[in-house]
Amino acid sequence: QNYIQNIEQRNDKINAVVSLDKETALKRAGEVQERIEQGTAGKLAGMVVGIKDLICEKDKQATCASNILANFESVYDATVIERLRDEDAILLGRLNMDEFAMGSSNENTIYGPTHNPVDASKVPGGSSGGSAAAVAADFCTASLGTDTGGSIRQPASYCGVVGLKPTYGRVSRYGLIAYASSFDCIGPLTHSVKDAAIMLETLAGHDENDNTSSSRAVPDYQRFVDRPDANIRIGVPEEYFGEGLDDEIREGIRGRLAELEEAGAELVPIHLPHMKYGIATYYILATAEASSNLARYDGIRYGHRADIEEVEKELKQEEEAIKEQMKLAGGDKKVELGAQLDDVDSPLIRLYKKSRTEGFGQEVKRRIMLGTYVLSAGYYDAYYAKAQKVRRLIKEDFTSAFEEVDVIVSPTAPTTAFDIGANIENPLQMYLNDIYTISANLAGICGINIPAGVHTNGLPYGMQFMANTFEEGKLFNAARLVEQLS
Ligand code: GLN
Repeated sequence: QNYIQNIEQRNDKINAVVSLDKETALKRAGEVQERIEQGTAGKLAGMVVGIKDLICEKDKQATCASNILANFESVYDATVIERLRDEDAILLGRLNMDEFAMGSSNENTIYGPTHNPVDASKVPGGSSGGSAAAVAADFCTASLGTDTGGSIRQPASYCGVVGLKPTYGRVSRYGLIAYASSFDCIGPLTHSVKDAAIMLETLAGHDENDNTSSSRAVPDYQRFVDRPDANIRIGVPEEYFGEGLDDEIREGIRGRLAELEEAGAELVPIHLPHMKYGIATYYILATAEASSNLARYDGIRYGHRADIEEVEKELKQEEEAIKEQMKLAGGDKKVELGAQLDDVDSPLIRLYKKSRTEGFGQEVKRRIMLGTYVLSAGYYDAYYAKAQKVRRLIKEDFTSAFEEVDVIVSPTAPTTAFDIGANIENPLQMYLNDIYTISANLAGICGINIPAGVHTNGLPYGMQFMANTFEEGKLFNAARLVEQLS
């Protein structure tokens, strides 16, 4: 009731929650309460969780903030949803996001932008902007987001909450609507490191419905939070603290690191020489995968379908216009017009084109075109195959770094949250927001955002720890040390 009240008071302004099912949530809360009293409640009893609108919940909308799925309802539960329910979480509603998780500001959405709860003139970050804002505004205890290139960590940094991107394969993707399948990760956004650990214990583990999910045992993550060890080696990559980073954020993180050193941590200068290729590599590979994943929205099987009668009318008009001209034309011109007539789309093809034209937003179309281009014959080797090789080099940089250190530290984003509208006309500037987060996705390793301070502009900023694959425990340990400082 407390969370519902907060939503009713503030969501008009924040616009994080796009669908709220009060009755179901309250009924469920009553049931969980009973189980608590009987002593049979699950691990998440009392936790109210919001869900990014691209993770399927049976009989609920899953729109991806896109017109093409505006009328879509899931017919099954994602594995993560089942797991949350099994542990007695109360699922509250569906959260705003960038369309198909493409973006860094939560402005690419059919619902209108989400506003940062700390300062409503600023973006909350993206693409899990609704998930970060909902936690920051106290609309829920925790939320689920997805991180393909930084979409959990960057909004967590902008809104001042904890955001975890698990190792690729740690959490099942079954029931997650795909953006870039070799990068996509589901993870929690929470107020505290402890909550992130509890959430991951629930979400992680093998799933027979996702062959990329790992069968490694899920550790007791809470133990890393309850008894953090200050005696750790923290890699500090020079490449992550250079040009483009806000001076105050740089100094703030340096200050935190000095405090950790004081407490017993060892700071180790390291190098990640290929990190400078991260953004370019990511935007080739992720768009290639997206162009393939998004081919399924054809207006036939599900999602938005253009009006077939209009399509037929349109085609008829086109054909008649050509036939009209043919009456007057002769010779070559007539042959040319005949070919044009043959080229007029069939109704089904036109329906497909029109449904996609109407259904996808501008950024999604840009990505589909980019991805189709880099996969096309003649460009494949120059772009896609090359990017795969660079991805390997980035991964190897991390592998050798983690032979020396437990975690690597960096800023999470180059700046604090920016003004709504500031980067909307400049996609490249928007892409640069992911500069510190993207390499973890390319390498498949895990990363966490932990709030690190408040800028003199009044906005929060975070710092990121990254650890090797399946070393989430080390992230919780390091993040908890920082949390204890504040
Ligand atoms: N901002 C990046 C993109 O637009 C990352 C998105 C994400 O992690 N889902 O692709």
